[in-house]
Amino acid sequence: MIPPRKVKFEAGKREHENIEFRTFLKCNADEQTLDEQFAKLHKELFENYDCSRCRNCCKMYYGAIPQEDIEADAKYLGLTKEELIGAYLREQPEGGSYTTKHKPCDFLEEDGSCRLGECRPKSCKQYPYTDQPERLHSLYSVLEAVEVCPVAFEIYERLKKEYGFGYRR
Ligand code: SF4
Ligand code: SF4
Repeated sequence: MIPPRKVKFEAGKREHENIEFRTFLKCNADEQTLDEQFAKLHKELFENYDCSRCRNCCKMYYGAIPQEDIEADAKYLGLTKEELIGAYLREQPEGGSYTTKHKPCDFLEEDGSCRLGECRPKSCKQYPYTDQPERLHSLYSVLEAVEVCPVAFEIYERLKKEYGFGYRR
């Protein structure tokens, strides 16, 4: 597996090839088979990966906290809703959701854990979404994750091999 610090650089080197493979999948892959391939690789690779040693997703994005999580998150941290928002969050211009004030995410602890524990947002639990359905229609989201997440990077490389997609490096 590629070290977390090298993902962005290595994905950058493969940018053209990765976009071409997206087009290849769009034209050739069966939707259900592709979902099964993604899900299998996701399970296999995450089972043996310790995310607390990476945390690229928490470092490279703002945390995104939906409105419906605010009450539970505040309770979990022993704060009022107002204290939680004032200390950590910024409301999105369109309203209804919040991001953390800073990137890396304000809830990322030094040891790589999340201060919100099991209360962390669903989107964080699901990231990089490689086991979610309809990947064929979300390949740009996969390409984005490939630039951040070592596991998503490895999944995409393995899929290239499974499809016999030619390397041009
Ligand atoms: S989900 Fe991906 S980017 Fe996030 S910590 Fe785990 S391996 Fe790293
Ligand atoms: S809320 Fe937690 S899991 Fe989500 S980005 Fe912030 S530190 Fe990471």
